Amino acid sequence: MNKILIIKKIQLGESTFPVENQNSKLGFNFYCGNGGIKHKTILSLENSNLLDSSIESGQIDNKDLAQNDIDKLQNLEDKKRPFPYRFQIYNCQECNNNYLIIFDIYEFRGYYSFTIYGVLQIESTISINNYEQN
Ligand SMILES: [Zn+2]
Repeated sequence: MNKILIIKKIQLGESTFPVENQNSKLGFNFYCGNGGIKHKTILSLENSNLLDSSIESGQIDNKDLAQNDIDKLQNLEDKKRPFPYRFQIYNCQECNNNYLIIFDIYEFRGYYSFTIYGVLQIESTISINNYEQN
């Protein structure tokens, strides 16, 4: 698979959202990298993939993610992390940009939350269809 090239990080406001359970879908909005439009995405366990699988395949590089403030490199490389990073790719028809959204779904004492680590605008050279069919 082609390497994902990061264009820039999208600024976010709130980043933690309580949900009912781990299979809940989260409606998550952010502003377009070109400004103006608000993009509405739906994040979920079933439509996301493990970040580790893309790192192992060389599609994404932890150092690139750390440079874009997704998390500290030591956290990104931590194999004992209890709640693995997940990602979803969102292809926006309105602006024709692609976005990589990195998050996790964690449970604490029976309460579930999504934490969004970042939204990155990425180059459109990868095959997005692989992800939409999951
Ligand atoms: Zn956009």
